[in-house]
Amino acid sequence: AKTEERNALRFYTPKMHADARRRLKLASELRQALTRNEFQLLYQPSVEMRTGRIVAVEALVRWRHPERGSVPPDEFIPIAESLGLIRQIDQWVMETACAQMVLWDQMRLPPLRMAVNVSAGTFAHPDFLPGISQALVQAGVPANRLLVELTESAILRLGEDTERAMQSLHKLGVGVAIDDFGTGYSSLAYLKLPAVAYLKIDRSFIAGLPSNGNDVAITEAMLAIARSLELHTIAEGIETEAQHEFLLRAGCQEAQGYLYSRPLPPDEIERLLAPRASQ
Ligand code: C2E
Ligand code: CA
Ligand code: CA
Ligand code: CA
Repeated sequence: AKTEERNALRFYTPKMHADARRRLKLASELRQALTRNEFQLLYQPSVEMRTGRIVAVEALVRWRHPERGSVPPDEFIPIAESLGLIRQIDQWVMETACAQMVLWDQMRLPPLRMAVNVSAGTFAHPDFLPGISQALVQAGVPANRLLVELTESAILRLGEDTERAMQSLHKLGVGVAIDDFGTGYSSLAYLKLPAVAYLKIDRSFIAGLPSNGNDVAITEAMLAIARSLELHTIAEGIETEAQHEFLLRAGCQEAQGYLYSRPLPPDEIERLLAPRASQ
């Protein structure tokens, strides 16, 4: 134990110290961020590959920190998860995204599907179902316009309760997309659940297209599984024309990525969807 302690001390660098302090500070500020209204949603379009038409958007949360500027979700979501704050954030996201759909409907934009990301801690909690139906009822949007994005690890975490939770979502009419598909270590059994209607192929496989043989094989296999189970496919992280061409030819239905659009604030989505009406 003595040597371990010495080692621990030796490896405790000033950089780690600063990181730990930053995390600690972020944690206490995160608790206040909700009440101070510091969160914001950006919306990334998802396009139908065959036509290039925008058919959906994914809500992506940002934290506008008073001093630090925009803090990326990859930095604060894990902290929110460990502090048990993620449920409140995800609930705020669902309510805000539903309210945004209503605003866009009122502006007569073409009706889009809205996807929200839901963390494992949120999905596993008994308040999740009541929370999501409250968001829908409060805004007055039909459940079939909303899509919940769950990672394989979120599904794994719920274990034997997964089937029941998925059934409740399905009864409510909310669809489920498997996010970051292919990066988890779970079985494929949950793909048969009726609530699961979409597969999102992770960016890490798209990045190697079309030159990396492994990524080509894996992507084609995932598309084949989706086809035979009649799941709708969405590829994420498309940055090049070559990736687009490959996926279109391989039969992927929908795609998201910087090639089409970055995540945008609501007014820029409006400009994209109603270019004439705004002039
Ligand atoms: P994700 O759900 O896999 O979202 C896709 C991420 O990839 C987003 O990062 C998006 O901005 C980025 N992206 C999109 N197209 C491209 C591309 O062509 N190239 C590259 N390099 N990146 C692209 P973002 O917005 O930073 O979000 C990161 C992660 O944070 C999300 O990954 C999701 O897991 C989580 N997250 C975001 N919003 C929420 C939320 O409201 N609730 C929860 N629980 N998690 C969220
Ligand atoms: Ca997602
Ligand atoms: Ca993803
Ligand atoms: Ca991801």
